[in-house]
Amino acid sequence: MAKNPVIGLLGGGQLGRMLCQAAAPLGITVAVLDAEDCPAKQINQNSLHVTGSFKDPEKIKTLASRCDVLTVEIEHVECDVLEEIATKGVEVPSPDGHGTVMKRVPVHPSYKTIRLIQDKFQQKEYFAKNGLPVAPQMAIESGDARSASIEQAAKSFGFPFMLKGAKGSYDGRGNFKVRGPDDFETAAAQMGDQPLYAEKFVPFQMELAVMVMRTEDDDGNLKKVYPYPVVETIHEDSICTKVFFPPRNVAEGITRRAQKVACDVVSRLWGRGVFAVEMFLAGDEIIVNEVAPRPHNSGHLTIELVPQRSQFRAQLDSILDRVPSSEFSFIPQFPSALMLNILGGAEPQSHDRLVKLTTDFYHPHANATLQMYGKSSKPGRKIGHITAWGQSAIEQLSERTSHLIRCMDEIRA
Ligand code: ATP
Ligand code: MG
Ligand code: MG
Repeated sequence: MAKNPVIGLLGGGQLGRMLCQAAAPLGITVAVLDAEDCPAKQINQNSLHVTGSFKDPEKIKTLASRCDVLTVEIEHVECDVLEEIATKGVEVPSPDGHGTVMKRVPVHPSYKTIRLIQDKFQQKEYFAKNGLPVAPQMAIESGDARSASIEQAAKSFGFPFMLKGAKGSYDGRGNFKVRGPDDFETAAAQMGDQPLYAEKFVPFQMELAVMVMRTEDDDGNLKKVYPYPVVETIHEDSICTKVFFPPRNVAEGITRRAQKVACDVVSRLWGRGVFAVEMFLAGDEIIVNEVAPRPHNSGHLTIELVPQRSQFRAQLDSILDRVPSSEFSFIPQFPSALMLNILGGAEPQSHDRLVKLTTDFYHPHANATLQMYGKSSKPGRKIGHITAWGQSAIEQLSERTSHLIRCMDEIRA
């Protein structure tokens, strides 16, 4: 068998950890750039890991010098150096032992995609330019509560509207819902001096998400996009808490359209990998919220739902160009599944009861499994998740796991 390429991974949080879990049985080595005790390194030992930050260009070069392909578990990485590594290369010792040579290391998804997605405002400008459905938005001058642009946003969008940090935000931490002019002062103070934009509030009845695997040839031409089944995501206080498959009470025509929109979006990006497309369903309109160029919280349940091809296996298959054939598709093995995030509570032990309920779970027609990430608990921090699945409809599955859902809500309360 040909030697497996070594994958270099920027970031070793829970997504990296689950990528390593998918890679190990396939004999694929993943070298991780992150802190020494990060979740991914806790379960994956090898001599190629690099200790440091995925924002440090020198560390990224060290990682690249040890790998055949680079990928990410987070989009907030240093991007210029990724471009340099993919186009000019990184210095490595010459095979003849004299001096050094430049080695180019492919980056998947492309640094172009990562750079675009890092700026949520530019990301959606690009989607709009390509005819994809996004909410109206406008750039805002930062740091000034009385800026003309914030008044303009209020005038154009009405109240409420969303004020968002363009860069570096996640789990809703860079978002502020502006409910009226009285909020301008607090919004400006809280959002601080960072690039901002305003976005029209979408009165959605549901949020949907679709994971998409993208394949590409060695010259960077799109081969194909492959959607996973559509899921319903629940966000509470802007953070994803629950995911349901299939979405509850949504017509099949809508889920088919959501898959089509997600595929259209990912077709317009660059590089191989998996991508999460977050969408709003408003009436029967589908609006793209944002894209993550990597495995995603909304795709965790693919580990059980599509056991032979989870989102993590799909990331490996796509970046290594090992997708079986263009006829391939992601087929759910069960009629329903749900995922519950375990978020740290007020006390470090707040989640212990939920962990026990999950490990004790027994039902003849449903399963529930626990995945802890090896992270210390902090209020609101994602420290693990639970997936439940079974042979029933999603409503029955929710009923059968209602004690878990209740317990999870109590920890957050
Ligand atoms: P993530 O962790 O998904 O990267 P994020 O910090 O990038 O989150 P967003 O996805 O922009 O944040 O927003 C988080 C949540 O806030 C959304 O899933 C949605 O529930 C709500 N939200 C964001 N934008 C809007 C909007 N324009 N209208 C209504 N609700 C919104
Ligand atoms: Mg985001
Ligand atoms: Mg989001």
